[in-house]
Amino acid sequence: MNDYDAIVIGAGNAGLTAAATLQRAGARTLLLERHNVPGGCGTSFRRGRFEFEVALHQLSGVGVEGQPMSLREGLFQQLGIADKLEFVQEHDLYRAVIPGQLDLTLPADWDAAIDAIEAEFPGNRDRTAKFFELLKKVTFWQIAAMRGMPVEQIDPVLFEYGLRPLKAVLDEYFDDDRIKVALGMYWTYLGQPPSKLRFQDLALTLFAYFEFKPWHLRGGSQAMSTAILDAFLQAGGDVRFNIAVEAILTDAGQVSGVRLDDGTEVTASDVVSNAALPITYGMLEGIDLPAVVRDDLGTRRIGVSGFVLHMGLDATPAELGFTTSTTFVNMDTDDDRTYDAWRSFQPARGICVSSYDVAPIGFAPTGATHVSLMTLQYGDIWRNVAPSEYARAKFAYAETLLDLCETVTPGIRDAIEEVDVATPLTMMRYLGHPGGTIYGYDQDATENWLFRNSERETHIPGLHLAGSWAGIGGFQPTLEAGARVARRLLRAKAA
Ligand SMILES: Cc1cc2nc3c(=O)[nH]c(=O)nc-3n(C[C@H](O)[C@H](O)[C@H](O)COP(=O)(O)OP(=O)(O)OC[C@H]3O[C@@H](n4cnc5c(N)ncnc54)[C@H](O)[C@@H]3O)c2cc1C
Repeated sequence: MNDYDAIVIGAGNAGLTAAATLQRAGARTLLLERHNVPGGCGTSFRRGRFEFEVALHQLSGVGVEGQPMSLREGLFQQLGIADKLEFVQEHDLYRAVIPGQLDLTLPADWDAAIDAIEAEFPGNRDRTAKFFELLKKVTFWQIAAMRGMPVEQIDPVLFEYGLRPLKAVLDEYFDDDRIKVALGMYWTYLGQPPSKLRFQDLALTLFAYFEFKPWHLRGGSQAMSTAILDAFLQAGGDVRFNIAVEAILTDAGQVSGVRLDDGTEVTASDVVSNAALPITYGMLEGIDLPAVVRDDLGTRRIGVSGFVLHMGLDATPAELGFTTSTTFVNMDTDDDRTYDAWRSFQPARGICVSSYDVAPIGFAPTGATHVSLMTLQYGDIWRNVAPSEYARAKFAYAETLLDLCETVTPGIRDAIEEVDVATPLTMMRYLGHPGGTIYGYDQDATENWLFRNSERETHIPGLHLAGSWAGIGGFQPTLEAGARVARRLLRAKAA
Protein backbone atom coordinates (compact mmCIF):
# COMPACT_ATOMS: atom_id res chain seq x y z
CA MET A 1 0.00 0.00 0.00
CA ASN A 2 1.23 3.49 -0.84
CA ASP A 3 2.20 5.91 1.94
CA TYR A 4 -0.42 8.38 0.62
CA ASP A 5 -3.15 8.52 -2.00
CA ALA A 6 -1.78 11.84 -3.28
CA ILE A 7 1.24 14.08 -2.78
CA VAL A 8 1.07 17.82 -3.50
CA ILE A 9 4.32 19.61 -4.32
CA GLY A 10 4.22 23.26 -3.25
CA ALA A 11 1.89 25.18 -0.94
CA GLY A 12 1.11 28.14 -3.23
CA ASN A 13 -2.56 28.99 -3.85
CA ALA A 14 -3.18 26.05 -6.17
CA GLY A 15 -1.19 23.58 -4.07
CA LEU A 16 -3.15 24.55 -0.98
CA THR A 17 -6.61 24.31 -2.54
CA ALA A 18 -5.67 21.05 -4.29
CA ALA A 19 -4.44 19.50 -1.03
CA ALA A 20 -7.44 20.70 1.00
CA THR A 21 -9.93 19.52 -1.65
CA LEU A 22 -8.31 16.09 -1.88
CA GLN A 23 -8.04 15.54 1.86
CA ARG A 24 -11.55 16.79 2.58
CA ALA A 25 -12.82 14.25 0.01
CA GLY A 26 -11.07 11.49 1.92
CA ALA A 27 -7.87 11.09 -0.14
CA ARG A 28 -4.87 10.72 2.23
CA THR A 29 -2.70 13.64 1.15
CA LEU A 30 0.82 14.86 1.92
CA LEU A 31 1.64 18.53 1.19
CA LEU A 32 5.32 19.41 0.72
CA GLU A 33 6.64 22.97 0.72
CA ARG A 34 10.26 24.11 0.45
CA HIS A 35 9.59 27.44 2.23
CA ASN A 36 8.74 27.69 5.95
CA VAL A 37 5.23 29.17 5.51
CA PRO A 38 2.21 28.32 3.33
CA GLY A 39 1.13 30.57 0.45
CA GLY A 40 3.88 30.80 -2.19
CA CYS A 41 3.29 34.36 -3.45
CA GLY A 42 0.38 34.66 -0.98
CA THR A 43 2.41 35.37 2.13
CA SER A 44 3.50 38.25 4.39
CA PHE A 45 6.53 39.08 6.54
CA ARG A 46 7.38 41.40 9.43
CA ARG A 47 9.70 44.38 9.59
CA GLY A 48 9.71 46.41 12.80
CA ARG A 49 6.18 47.59 13.70
CA PHE A 50 4.83 46.52 10.29
CA GLU A 51 3.66 43.40 8.53
CA PHE A 52 4.27 43.54 4.76
CA GLU A 53 1.91 41.97 2.20
CA VAL A 54 4.01 40.16 -0.40
CA ALA A 55 1.69 39.97 -3.38
CA LEU A 56 -2.02 40.70 -3.07
CA HIS A 57 -2.88 44.04 -4.64
CA GLN A 58 -6.47 43.34 -5.62
CA LEU A 59 -8.37 40.09 -5.13
CA SER A 60 -11.01 39.26 -7.72
CA GLY A 61 -13.72 36.60 -7.49
CA VAL A 62 -15.17 37.66 -4.12
CA GLY A 63 -18.27 39.69 -5.01
CA VAL A 64 -20.44 41.66 -2.61
CA GLU A 65 -22.99 40.24 -0.17
CA GLY A 66 -26.11 39.46 -2.17
CA GLN A 67 -24.04 39.17 -5.35
CA PRO A 68 -21.27 36.76 -4.34
CA MET A 69 -18.72 35.46 -6.81
CA SER A 70 -17.07 32.07 -7.08
CA LEU A 71 -14.54 32.45 -4.25
CA ARG A 72 -16.85 33.81 -1.52
CA GLU A 73 -19.83 31.55 -2.19
CA GLY A 74 -18.07 28.67 -3.95
CA LEU A 75 -14.52 27.67 -3.12
CA PHE A 76 -14.16 29.22 0.33
CA GLN A 77 -17.44 27.64 1.44
CA GLN A 78 -16.46 24.26 0.03
CA LEU A 79 -13.24 24.47 2.03
CA GLY A 80 -15.12 25.61 5.16
CA ILE A 81 -13.18 28.87 5.48
CA ALA A 82 -15.67 31.50 4.23
CA ASP A 83 -16.50 32.68 7.77
CA LYS A 84 -12.82 32.74 8.77
CA LEU A 85 -11.85 35.40 6.22
CA GLU A 86 -12.56 39.11 6.58
CA PHE A 87 -12.84 40.77 3.19
CA VAL A 88 -11.92 44.45 2.90
CA GLN A 89 -13.56 46.19 -0.06
CA GLU A 90 -11.90 48.74 -2.30
CA HIS A 91 -14.60 51.10 -3.55
CA ASP A 92 -12.50 52.40 -6.45
CA LEU A 93 -10.80 50.30 -9.06
CA TYR A 94 -7.85 52.65 -9.08
CA ARG A 95 -6.56 56.17 -9.53
CA ALA A 96 -4.72 56.52 -12.85
CA VAL A 97 -2.05 59.21 -13.00
CA ILE A 98 0.28 60.57 -15.64
CA PRO A 99 1.90 63.57 -13.97
CA GLY A 100 0.70 66.78 -15.63
CA GLN A 101 -1.61 64.94 -18.04
CA LEU A 102 -4.02 62.60 -16.28
CA ASP A 103 -5.42 62.16 -12.79
CA LEU A 104 -8.59 60.07 -12.90
CA THR A 105 -10.12 57.91 -10.19
CA LEU A 106 -12.24 55.10 -11.60
CA PRO A 107 -14.98 54.05 -9.15
CA ALA A 108 -15.75 50.31 -8.96
CA ASP A 109 -19.17 50.90 -10.51
CA TRP A 110 -20.04 51.00 -14.22
CA ASP A 111 -22.25 54.13 -14.14
CA ALA A 112 -20.07 56.06 -11.71
CA ALA A 113 -17.05 55.27 -13.90
CA ILE A 114 -18.85 56.68 -16.95
CA ASP A 115 -19.66 59.83 -14.94
CA ALA A 116 -16.03 60.14 -13.81
CA ILE A 117 -14.74 59.91 -17.38
CA GLU A 118 -17.32 62.39 -18.65
CA ALA A 119 -16.43 64.82 -15.85
CA GLU A 120 -12.74 64.69 -16.72
CA PHE A 121 -13.10 64.33 -20.50
CA PRO A 122 -16.43 65.93 -21.54
CA GLY A 123 -18.03 64.50 -24.66
CA ASN A 124 -17.00 60.88 -24.00
CA ARG A 125 -20.08 59.60 -22.14
CA ASP A 126 -21.58 57.69 -25.09
CA ARG A 127 -18.27 56.26 -26.25
CA THR A 128 -17.50 55.00 -22.76
CA ALA A 129 -20.97 53.49 -22.35
CA LYS A 130 -20.63 51.71 -25.71
CA PHE A 131 -17.13 50.50 -24.81
CA PHE A 132 -18.44 49.05 -21.54
CA GLU A 133 -21.30 47.32 -23.41
CA LEU A 134 -18.78 45.72 -25.77
CA LEU A 135 -16.63 44.69 -22.84
CA LYS A 136 -19.59 43.00 -21.11
CA LYS A 137 -20.65 41.16 -24.27
CA VAL A 138 -17.16 39.90 -25.08
CA THR A 139 -16.74 38.71 -21.49
CA PHE A 140 -20.10 36.94 -21.47
CA TRP A 141 -19.37 35.04 -24.67
CA GLN A 142 -15.80 34.31 -23.69
CA ILE A 143 -16.99 32.64 -20.50
CA ALA A 144 -19.56 30.68 -22.52
CA ALA A 145 -16.77 29.53 -24.86
CA MET A 146 -14.53 28.58 -21.90
CA ARG A 147 -17.40 26.49 -20.53
CA GLY A 148 -17.59 24.58 -23.81
CA MET A 149 -20.51 26.20 -25.64
CA PRO A 150 -20.47 24.98 -29.28
CA VAL A 151 -18.81 27.51 -31.56
CA GLU A 152 -21.92 27.98 -33.77
CA GLN A 153 -23.88 29.19 -30.73
CA ILE A 154 -21.32 31.85 -29.77
CA ASP A 155 -22.15 35.45 -30.71
CA PRO A 156 -19.86 36.72 -33.51
CA VAL A 157 -18.85 39.67 -31.32
CA LEU A 158 -16.34 37.38 -29.58
CA PHE A 159 -14.67 36.42 -32.86
CA GLU A 160 -14.68 40.00 -34.12
CA TYR A 161 -13.22 41.58 -30.98
CA GLY A 162 -11.92 38.94 -28.58
CA LEU A 163 -8.52 38.32 -30.13
CA ARG A 164 -7.90 41.85 -31.38
CA PRO A 165 -5.18 43.77 -29.57
CA LEU A 166 -6.57 45.95 -26.78
CA LYS A 167 -4.92 48.97 -28.39
CA ALA A 168 -6.85 48.49 -31.63
CA VAL A 169 -10.16 48.36 -29.78
CA LEU A 170 -9.35 51.40 -27.62
CA ASP A 171 -8.32 53.28 -30.79
CA GLU A 172 -11.66 52.39 -32.37
CA TYR A 173 -13.64 53.76 -29.42
CA PHE A 174 -11.63 56.75 -28.20
CA ASP A 175 -9.58 59.63 -29.60
CA ASP A 176 -7.93 60.86 -26.42
CA ASP A 177 -4.86 58.80 -25.48
CA ARG A 178 -5.32 59.63 -21.81
CA ILE A 179 -8.71 57.87 -21.69
CA LYS A 180 -7.13 54.85 -23.39
CA VAL A 181 -4.43 54.77 -20.74
CA ALA A 182 -6.95 55.17 -17.93
CA LEU A 183 -9.19 52.34 -19.16
CA GLY A 184 -6.38 50.02 -20.22
CA MET A 185 -4.39 50.35 -17.00
CA TYR A 186 -4.93 46.73 -15.91
CA TRP A 187 -2.66 45.60 -18.75
CA THR A 188 0.12 45.74 -16.17
CA TYR A 189 -1.68 43.05 -14.13
CA LEU A 190 -1.62 40.85 -17.21
CA GLY A 191 1.96 41.49 -18.26
CA GLN A 192 1.36 42.35 -21.93
CA PRO A 193 1.09 45.88 -23.37
CA PRO A 194 -2.14 46.98 -25.10
CA SER A 195 -0.51 46.50 -28.51
CA LYS A 196 -0.14 42.76 -27.73
CA LEU A 197 -2.77 42.02 -25.11
CA ARG A 198 -5.93 40.46 -26.49
CA PHE A 199 -9.00 42.55 -25.82
CA GLN A 200 -10.83 39.61 -24.23
CA ASP A 201 -8.21 39.38 -21.46
CA LEU A 202 -8.51 43.02 -20.45
CA ALA A 203 -12.31 42.76 -20.81
CA LEU A 204 -12.47 39.82 -18.39
CA THR A 205 -10.25 41.60 -15.85
CA LEU A 206 -12.10 44.92 -15.95
CA PHE A 207 -15.46 43.12 -15.87
CA ALA A 208 -14.43 41.06 -12.84
CA TYR A 209 -13.39 44.11 -10.83
CA PHE A 210 -16.30 46.34 -11.93
CA GLU A 211 -18.96 43.72 -11.37
CA PHE A 212 -17.59 41.91 -8.32
CA LYS A 213 -15.30 44.66 -6.90
CA PRO A 214 -11.65 44.54 -5.90
CA TRP A 215 -10.84 43.24 -2.41
CA HIS A 216 -8.14 43.03 0.17
CA LEU A 217 -8.08 40.64 3.09
CA ARG A 218 -7.72 41.53 6.74
CA GLY A 219 -4.48 39.85 7.74
CA GLY A 220 -3.36 39.90 4.11
CA SER A 221 -3.10 36.98 1.72
CA GLN A 222 -1.25 35.11 4.48
CA ALA A 223 -4.52 34.90 6.44
CA MET A 224 -6.14 33.15 3.49
CA SER A 225 -3.19 30.79 2.92
CA THR A 226 -3.15 29.87 6.62
CA ALA A 227 -6.93 29.32 6.66
CA ILE A 228 -6.72 26.91 3.70
CA LEU A 229 -3.83 25.07 5.34
CA ASP A 230 -5.87 24.79 8.58
CA ALA A 231 -8.79 23.32 6.62
CA PHE A 232 -6.39 20.74 5.18
CA LEU A 233 -4.91 19.86 8.57
CA GLN A 234 -8.30 19.66 10.28
CA ALA A 235 -9.37 17.15 7.64
CA GLY A 236 -6.37 14.98 8.65
CA GLY A 237 -3.81 16.05 6.02
CA ASP A 238 -0.05 15.94 6.61
CA VAL A 239 2.22 18.86 5.74
CA ARG A 240 6.00 19.26 5.78
CA PHE A 241 7.73 22.64 5.43
CA ASN A 242 11.40 23.40 4.75
CA ILE A 243 11.64 20.38 2.48
CA ALA A 244 11.85 20.36 -1.29
CA VAL A 245 10.89 17.60 -3.67
CA GLU A 246 13.90 16.80 -5.83
CA ALA A 247 12.48 13.95 -7.96
CA ILE A 248 9.12 12.60 -9.09
CA LEU A 249 9.45 8.82 -9.23
CA THR A 250 7.81 6.57 -11.80
CA ASP A 251 7.26 2.86 -12.16
CA ALA A 252 6.29 1.27 -15.48
CA GLY A 253 5.34 4.64 -16.95
CA GLN A 254 3.14 5.68 -14.01
CA VAL A 255 3.94 8.11 -11.18
CA SER A 256 4.82 6.19 -8.02
CA GLY A 257 5.93 8.89 -5.53
CA VAL A 258 8.56 11.52 -4.82
CA ARG A 259 12.07 11.78 -3.41
CA LEU A 260 12.73 14.65 -0.99
CA ASP A 261 15.93 16.64 -0.74
CA ASP A 262 16.89 14.70 2.42
CA GLY A 263 16.82 11.50 0.35
CA THR A 264 13.54 10.15 1.80
CA GLU A 265 11.17 8.51 -0.67
CA VAL A 266 7.39 8.73 -0.22
CA THR A 267 4.97 6.70 -2.33
CA ALA A 268 1.65 7.76 -3.88
CA SER A 269 -0.05 6.95 -7.18
CA ASP A 270 -0.88 10.62 -7.83
CA VAL A 271 1.30 13.71 -7.58
CA VAL A 272 -0.08 17.23 -8.02
CA SER A 273 2.64 19.77 -8.78
CA ASN A 274 2.30 23.48 -7.99
CA ALA A 275 5.96 23.96 -9.01
CA ALA A 276 7.04 25.46 -12.34
CA LEU A 277 6.27 23.33 -15.40
CA PRO A 278 9.87 22.95 -16.64
CA ILE A 279 10.99 22.11 -13.08
CA THR A 280 8.18 19.57 -12.63
CA TYR A 281 8.88 17.73 -15.87
CA GLY A 282 12.62 17.99 -15.19
CA MET A 283 12.14 16.20 -11.86
CA LEU A 284 10.61 13.11 -13.48
CA GLU A 285 12.82 10.04 -13.12
CA GLY A 286 12.65 6.72 -14.93
CA ILE A 287 10.58 7.91 -17.87
CA ASP A 288 11.25 9.56 -21.23
CA LEU A 289 9.29 12.75 -21.73
CA PRO A 290 6.70 12.26 -24.49
CA ALA A 291 7.55 14.22 -27.66
CA VAL A 292 4.36 16.28 -27.32
CA VAL A 293 5.52 17.54 -23.89
CA ARG A 294 9.06 18.25 -25.13
CA ASP A 295 7.67 20.19 -28.09
CA ASP A 296 5.34 22.17 -25.85
CA LEU A 297 8.02 23.08 -23.30
CA GLY A 298 10.43 24.03 -26.09
CA THR A 299 8.07 26.61 -27.54
CA ARG A 300 7.09 28.48 -24.40
CA ARG A 301 8.40 31.75 -22.98
CA ILE A 302 9.14 32.36 -19.32
CA GLY A 303 6.93 35.17 -18.08
CA VAL A 304 7.54 38.39 -16.24
CA SER A 305 8.61 38.79 -12.62
CA GLY A 306 8.27 41.81 -10.35
CA PHE A 307 10.24 44.41 -8.42
CA VAL A 308 8.60 45.56 -5.19
CA LEU A 309 9.46 48.24 -2.68
CA HIS A 310 7.69 47.51 0.63
CA MET A 311 7.47 50.47 2.99
CA GLY A 312 6.31 51.07 6.55
CA LEU A 313 5.49 54.78 6.76
CA ASP A 314 5.12 56.86 9.90
CA ALA A 315 2.09 58.82 8.65
CA THR A 316 -1.56 58.16 7.85
CA PRO A 317 -2.77 57.61 4.25
CA ALA A 318 -4.54 61.00 4.40
CA GLU A 319 -1.39 62.78 5.59
CA LEU A 320 0.51 61.21 2.71
CA GLY A 321 -2.15 62.14 0.15
CA PHE A 322 -3.57 58.70 -0.63
CA THR A 323 -7.21 58.79 -1.74
CA THR A 324 -7.44 55.24 -3.15
CA SER A 325 -6.03 51.86 -2.13
CA THR A 326 -4.65 51.36 -5.64
CA THR A 327 -2.92 54.03 -7.71
CA PHE A 328 -1.19 53.53 -11.05
CA VAL A 329 1.40 56.13 -11.95
CA ASN A 330 2.77 56.11 -15.50
CA MET A 331 5.44 58.40 -16.88
CA ASP A 332 3.56 58.94 -20.17
CA THR A 333 1.10 57.28 -22.58
CA ASP A 334 3.74 55.13 -24.31
CA ASP A 335 2.84 51.68 -22.96
CA ASP A 336 5.08 49.84 -25.45
CA ARG A 337 8.08 51.74 -24.14
CA THR A 338 7.06 50.93 -20.58
CA TYR A 339 6.83 47.23 -21.47
CA ASP A 340 10.26 47.31 -23.18
CA ALA A 341 11.72 48.93 -20.06
CA TRP A 342 10.86 45.80 -18.06
CA ARG A 343 13.93 44.19 -19.68
CA SER A 344 16.30 46.90 -18.48
CA PHE A 345 17.44 48.94 -15.48
CA GLN A 346 16.26 52.22 -16.94
CA PRO A 347 14.14 54.13 -14.41
CA ALA A 348 10.73 52.59 -13.75
CA ARG A 349 8.21 54.08 -16.20
CA GLY A 350 5.08 52.81 -14.48
CA ILE A 351 4.23 51.66 -10.97
CA CYS A 352 1.33 50.20 -9.05
CA VAL A 353 1.07 51.83 -5.63
CA SER A 354 -0.87 49.84 -3.02
CA SER A 355 -1.85 51.68 0.14
CA TYR A 356 -3.09 49.02 2.55
CA ASP A 357 -4.54 51.45 5.09
CA VAL A 358 -7.02 53.51 3.06
CA ALA A 359 -9.22 50.52 3.97
CA PRO A 360 -7.01 48.99 6.67
CA ILE A 361 -5.99 45.33 6.49
CA GLY A 362 -4.38 45.47 9.93
CA PHE A 363 -0.70 45.43 8.96
CA ALA A 364 0.30 48.91 10.21
CA PRO A 365 -0.10 50.37 13.70
CA THR A 366 -2.55 53.23 14.23
CA GLY A 367 -1.25 56.44 12.67
CA ALA A 368 1.06 54.58 10.29
CA THR A 369 0.68 53.12 6.78
CA HIS A 370 1.91 50.10 4.85
CA VAL A 371 2.53 50.91 1.17
CA SER A 372 4.10 48.89 -1.61
CA LEU A 373 5.35 50.15 -4.96
CA MET A 374 5.61 47.59 -7.73
CA THR A 375 6.69 47.41 -11.33
CA LEU A 376 6.88 44.30 -13.44
CA GLN A 377 10.33 43.31 -14.67
CA TYR A 378 11.80 40.29 -16.42
CA GLY A 379 14.23 38.35 -14.26
CA ASP A 380 17.11 37.80 -16.68
CA ILE A 381 18.76 41.20 -16.25
CA TRP A 382 19.32 40.53 -12.55
CA ARG A 383 21.39 37.40 -13.26
CA ASN A 384 24.20 39.57 -14.60
CA VAL A 385 24.44 41.71 -11.46
CA ALA A 386 27.54 40.75 -9.46
CA PRO A 387 26.74 39.75 -5.85
CA SER A 388 28.89 42.64 -4.62
CA GLU A 389 26.76 45.05 -6.69
CA TYR A 390 23.36 43.59 -5.81
CA ALA A 391 22.43 45.76 -2.80
CA ARG A 392 23.52 48.96 -4.57
CA ALA A 393 21.63 47.99 -7.75
CA LYS A 394 18.36 47.17 -6.00
CA PHE A 395 18.29 50.32 -3.88
CA ALA A 396 19.25 52.47 -6.88
CA TYR A 397 16.39 50.99 -8.89
CA ALA A 398 14.00 51.33 -5.93
CA GLU A 399 14.75 55.07 -5.89
CA THR A 400 13.32 55.32 -9.41
CA LEU A 401 10.01 53.85 -8.18
CA LEU A 402 10.00 56.35 -5.34
CA ASP A 403 10.63 59.19 -7.80
CA LEU A 404 7.43 58.26 -9.65
CA CYS A 405 5.51 57.86 -6.39
CA GLU A 406 6.64 61.32 -5.21
CA THR A 407 4.62 62.80 -8.07
CA VAL A 408 1.39 61.76 -6.28
CA THR A 409 2.59 61.71 -2.67
CA PRO A 410 5.24 64.43 -2.36
CA GLY A 411 7.44 63.93 0.68
CA ILE A 412 6.73 60.21 1.06
CA ARG A 413 10.47 59.54 1.46
CA ASP A 414 10.49 61.55 4.69
CA ALA A 415 7.89 59.23 6.26
CA ILE A 416 9.79 55.98 5.63
CA GLU A 417 10.36 54.02 8.82
CA GLU A 418 10.90 50.48 7.47
CA VAL A 419 11.79 49.39 3.99
CA ASP A 420 12.42 46.14 2.16
CA VAL A 421 13.05 45.47 -1.52
CA ALA A 422 12.12 42.34 -3.48
CA THR A 423 13.72 41.85 -6.90
CA PRO A 424 13.10 39.07 -9.42
CA LEU A 425 15.98 37.23 -7.71
CA THR A 426 13.99 37.34 -4.46
CA MET A 427 11.03 35.76 -6.28
CA MET A 428 13.33 33.09 -7.75
CA ARG A 429 14.69 32.33 -4.31
CA TYR A 430 11.35 32.10 -2.50
CA LEU A 431 9.23 30.49 -5.22
CA GLY A 432 11.86 28.40 -6.99
CA HIS A 433 10.45 29.50 -10.37
CA PRO A 434 12.71 30.13 -13.40
CA GLY A 435 12.98 33.88 -13.99
CA GLY A 436 11.21 34.51 -10.68
CA THR A 437 8.05 34.67 -12.73
CA ILE A 438 4.85 35.49 -10.84
CA TYR A 439 2.32 34.46 -13.51
CA GLY A 440 4.08 31.43 -15.03
CA TYR A 441 4.54 31.71 -18.78
CA ASP A 442 4.07 34.99 -20.65
CA GLN A 443 0.34 35.66 -20.69
CA ASP A 444 0.09 36.43 -24.40
CA ALA A 445 -2.12 35.19 -27.22
CA THR A 446 -0.11 32.03 -27.88
CA GLU A 447 -0.01 30.92 -24.26
CA ASN A 448 -3.65 30.98 -23.24
CA TRP A 449 -6.43 28.45 -22.79
CA LEU A 450 -7.34 28.56 -26.49
CA PHE A 451 -4.01 27.12 -27.60
CA ARG A 452 -2.43 25.41 -24.56
CA ASN A 453 -3.93 23.08 -22.02
CA SER A 454 -1.13 21.96 -19.75
CA GLU A 455 -3.46 21.56 -16.80
CA ARG A 456 -5.83 19.12 -18.45
CA GLU A 457 -3.32 16.72 -20.01
CA THR A 458 0.16 15.96 -18.64
CA HIS A 459 0.71 12.80 -20.76
CA ILE A 460 2.19 11.12 -17.67
CA PRO A 461 -0.30 8.91 -15.77
CA GLY A 462 -0.56 10.05 -12.15
CA LEU A 463 1.01 13.50 -12.73
CA HIS A 464 -1.24 16.55 -12.33
CA LEU A 465 -0.36 20.23 -12.75
CA ALA A 466 -2.00 23.07 -10.87
CA GLY A 467 -1.05 26.72 -10.70
CA SER A 468 0.00 29.70 -12.75
CA TRP A 469 2.41 27.69 -14.92
CA ALA A 470 -0.31 25.30 -16.07
CA GLY A 471 -3.02 27.91 -16.68
CA ILE A 472 -3.72 31.54 -15.84
CA GLY A 473 -1.70 33.45 -13.21
CA GLY A 474 -3.15 35.54 -10.40
CA PHE A 475 -4.88 34.76 -7.11
CA GLN A 476 -8.39 33.82 -8.21
CA PRO A 477 -7.34 31.67 -11.19
CA THR A 478 -4.77 29.68 -9.19
CA LEU A 479 -7.00 29.21 -6.14
CA GLU A 480 -9.69 27.82 -8.44
CA ALA A 481 -7.24 25.76 -10.50
CA GLY A 482 -6.02 23.74 -7.50
CA ALA A 483 -9.55 22.74 -6.48
CA ARG A 484 -10.49 21.99 -10.11
CA VAL A 485 -7.49 19.72 -10.65
CA ALA A 486 -8.20 17.91 -7.37
CA ARG A 487 -11.84 17.34 -8.31
CA ARG A 488 -10.79 16.01 -11.72
CA LEU A 489 -8.35 13.62 -10.04
CA LEU A 490 -11.01 12.43 -7.59
CA ARG A 491 -13.51 11.87 -10.41
CA ALA A 492 -10.98 9.83 -12.37
CA LYS A 493 -10.27 7.68 -9.30
CA ALA A 494 -13.97 7.13 -8.67
CA ALA A 495 -14.67 6.12 -12.29
C1 LIG B 1 4.68 40.87 -5.91
C2 LIG B 1 3.50 40.15 -6.50
C3 LIG B 1 2.31 40.83 -6.72
C4 LIG B 1 1.19 40.18 -7.23
N1 LIG B 1 -0.01 40.84 -7.31
C5 LIG B 1 -1.15 40.15 -7.64
C6 LIG B 1 -2.45 40.73 -7.52
O1 LIG B 1 -2.63 41.84 -7.06
N2 LIG B 1 -3.53 40.01 -7.93
C7 LIG B 1 -3.41 38.75 -8.41
O2 LIG B 1 -4.41 38.12 -8.73
N3 LIG B 1 -2.18 38.16 -8.53
C8 LIG B 1 -1.06 38.82 -8.13
N4 LIG B 1 0.17 38.21 -8.17
C9 LIG B 1 0.28 36.89 -8.82
C10 LIG B 1 -0.20 35.75 -7.92
O3 LIG B 1 0.22 35.98 -6.61
C11 LIG B 1 0.37 34.42 -8.43
O4 LIG B 1 0.09 34.26 -9.82
C12 LIG B 1 -0.22 33.23 -7.70
O5 LIG B 1 -0.19 33.44 -6.29
C13 LIG B 1 0.58 31.98 -8.04
O6 LIG B 1 0.04 30.88 -7.35
P1 LIG B 1 0.50 29.41 -7.65
O7 LIG B 1 -0.56 28.50 -7.15
O8 LIG B 1 0.88 29.26 -9.08
O9 LIG B 1 1.78 29.15 -6.72
P2 LIG B 1 3.07 29.99 -6.33
O10 LIG B 1 2.68 31.15 -5.50
O11 LIG B 1 3.89 30.23 -7.53
O12 LIG B 1 3.78 28.98 -5.35
C14 LIG B 1 4.42 27.78 -5.74
C15 LIG B 1 4.90 27.10 -4.47
O13 LIG B 1 5.57 25.88 -4.81
C16 LIG B 1 6.70 25.74 -3.95
N5 LIG B 1 7.66 24.85 -4.61
C17 LIG B 1 8.23 25.03 -5.83
N6 LIG B 1 9.05 24.00 -6.11
C18 LIG B 1 8.98 23.14 -5.05
C19 LIG B 1 9.61 21.88 -4.75
N7 LIG B 1 10.45 21.29 -5.60
N8 LIG B 1 9.32 21.28 -3.55
C20 LIG B 1 8.46 21.87 -2.66
N9 LIG B 1 7.85 23.05 -2.90
C21 LIG B 1 8.11 23.68 -4.08
C22 LIG B 1 7.21 27.17 -3.81
O14 LIG B 1 8.06 27.32 -2.69
C23 LIG B 1 5.90 27.94 -3.68
O15 LIG B 1 5.47 28.02 -2.33
C24 LIG B 1 1.29 38.82 -7.61
C25 LIG B 1 2.48 38.12 -7.38
C26 LIG B 1 3.57 38.77 -6.81
C27 LIG B 1 4.82 38.00 -6.49
